[in-house]
Amino acid sequence: MNFLLSKEHQMMQKMVREFALNECEPTAAQRDEEEYFDIKIWHKMAELGLCGIPWPEEYGGAGADYLSYVIAVEELSRVDASIGAALSAHTSLAGWPVYKFGTEHQKRKYLRAMAEGKNMGAYCLTESGSGSDASGMRTTAVLDGDEWVLNGSKIFITNGGYADTYIVFAQTNSALKHKGISTFIVEKGFPGFSVGKKEKKLGIRSSATTEVIFEDCRVPKDNLLGQVGEGFQIAMMTLDGGRNGIASQAVGIAQGAFDNAVAFAKDRVQFGKPISSLQAISIQISRYGHKNRSCPFIDVSGSMA
Ligand SMILES: Cc1cc2nc3c(=O)[nH]c(=O)nc-3n(C[C@H](O)[C@H](O)[C@H](O)COP(=O)(O)OP(=O)(O)OC[C@H]3O[C@@H](n4cnc5c(N)ncnc54)[C@H](O)[C@@H]3O)c2cc1C
Repeated sequence: MNFLLSKEHQMMQKMVREFALNECEPTAAQRDEEEYFDIKIWHKMAELGLCGIPWPEEYGGAGADYLSYVIAVEELSRVDASIGAALSAHTSLAGWPVYKFGTEHQKRKYLRAMAEGKNMGAYCLTESGSGSDASGMRTTAVLDGDEWVLNGSKIFITNGGYADTYIVFAQTNSALKHKGISTFIVEKGFPGFSVGKKEKKLGIRSSATTEVIFEDCRVPKDNLLGQVGEGFQIAMMTLDGGRNGIASQAVGIAQGAFDNAVAFAKDRVQFGKPISSLQAISIQISRYGHKNRSCPFIDVSGSMA
């Protein structure tokens, strides 16, 4: 199997790498320290077409493939894991379910705005009492005339507060347990929607992770995503795709850590020479380094390079 990137993918890698170095790196440490998400960087990403990489052009996307998207997440995460996380949640967790399960109207209204970067997306599954066991959620949605009325709260929501479009999972028939869950597209301006506590995290601190609250939140009937009772399946299928985003974030972070370790080892002088020339250090570097720096995949063969 050939793991080398095509010309188009190499161009994407180069463009995002330059963007990350020029636009993210100069302020990444400070934003992380201050736990501050800079929406201006998001707007610049939108200008470059990074907010809808895998979606068709008719829905505002770049019409590229999924590999192009994971290359972008990897390159951003290499320099700024928070920006990588924001793009990953926006694309894999919020954009994908609309692309896959949305009506034509929903795609033209919500996917287009997300793909063009005018709106940011978020995915609301986790609750204080239901993490791994997502089927145990307590948030409810009850149909009242032409609107669904949502009550409950979600936690750990990436892009919370900054996002405009929230993909929300709620129980529409709790007697049916996971088969009674449905999915809704909720705009941040809908009555009864609010953003709660922001989490203080150990890492990726300039990515916002918040509580999201629904108090008699009124959602138009047309904003049901998929069918009633299809929500658990949508949530799980979305997470399956989301793992590509998480994996590319992890590869990017590992690459960034490696780059920094090499730079430090070359710079740090002990016993009259850079520590990179000490065998114990150089073996560690060669062991975890890339064989081919143009390839986005870390060599996991375990062989000593
Ligand atoms: C930075 C960050 C961003 C996030 N962004 C989002 C988001 O955008 N949207 C969203 O909905 N959620 C988000 N989450 C929530 C995330 O999906 C949950 O943290 C995850 O589902 C795990 O839930 P939990 O933290 O409640 O852990 P728990 O489910 O309480 O698990 C605790 C521990 O028990 C283990 N465990 C649980 N069940 C089993 C089992 N059956 N067998 C063996 N071990 C088990 C787990 O592996 C874990 O180690 C985010 C979380 C973080 C940390």
